[in-house]
Amino acid sequence: MDNVLPCNVEDRLQELLLDDEETNIGNDELPVTFKDVQPGGKYVQKCCAFAQKVAIIIPYGDRKEQLDTVVRHLHRLLQSQHLCYGIYVSELAYPTVFNKGLLMNVAYLTARDEGHYDCYIFHDVDLISQKERHLYICGEKPNHMSSFNTKFGGLPYIKYIGGVLALNDTHVRVVNGFSNLLFGWGGEDDVMEMRIADKHLGLTRVSADIGRYKALPHDRDKGNPVNNDRYKMYRTLRKHTDQDGLTSLAGLYELLKVERRPLYTWIYIKCNKTEVLQKNKNIVFG
Ligand code: UDP
Ligand code: MN
Repeated sequence: MDNVLPCNVEDRLQELLLDDEETNIGNDELPVTFKDVQPGGKYVQKCCAFAQKVAIIIPYGDRKEQLDTVVRHLHRLLQSQHLCYGIYVSELAYPTVFNKGLLMNVAYLTARDEGHYDCYIFHDVDLISQKERHLYICGEKPNHMSSFNTKFGGLPYIKYIGGVLALNDTHVRVVNGFSNLLFGWGGEDDVMEMRIADKHLGLTRVSADIGRYKALPHDRDKGNPVNNDRYKMYRTLRKHTDQDGLTSLAGLYELLKVERRPLYTWIYIKCNKTEVLQKNKNIVFG
């Protein structure tokens, strides 16, 4: 990696631990410029040679204000933590039913193929970390980072790993990424939780005082109806971790565009729910 400054990670951690400031960011313009961010939302200028290279993966649809807020917030936070990183935003072409798992899988592959990242942080568009000392890196085990969400006043249920989840490259490969088969709202995070458990990867969760996130308000989205079949699907999906995910992604979508926007890489894809389910009918209805 070029242009990296060596820095003492221990000192930096100490500094962050002392800094217990709450971040309080709304939709206002942030008082920073992003002159060191390269097109596609990459930052390699003044980061630590020893730290991990981190990819932020944001599944996205029709929430422009939230996207602008979270991306700006992340650039500021990650630069203050001296991390090398890239931000990837994946979006489905309408008309479609939202599919968060498939979107995250495609963005992961794009990031992996171009960046050789050490750590992948799967990040909802509507969550803003409130703590400066919440380090955006991976641990040895999958790490649930959003342990306190202001929308739920904590966690909605104990096994919940949605919101912000950090997986290193080995973790993502072992669980075969996310299921591609959950269209509509709900399920992809619960199935990931099962995959992590079934593959015995273990799981850590950031303490609630550090993993504190402000939830930006939103209504239920029009292209994302609740998937009421999800509980029924869990049993068969659970048996097919190795057949449903990164290994089966290739024929399920069309890559329309990868665009280097100033603050993130935008990945635009098309997929058809009926075709995807038809191609996987042995799993969906098995
Ligand atoms: N999402 C989006 N547009 C949509 C639906 C979902 O951008 O129309 C993405 C976004 O990253 C969001 C995440 O999927 O944070 C989870 O969806 P949602 O916020 O509706 O879930 P909830 O807050 O109810 O867990
Ligand atoms: Mn949300």
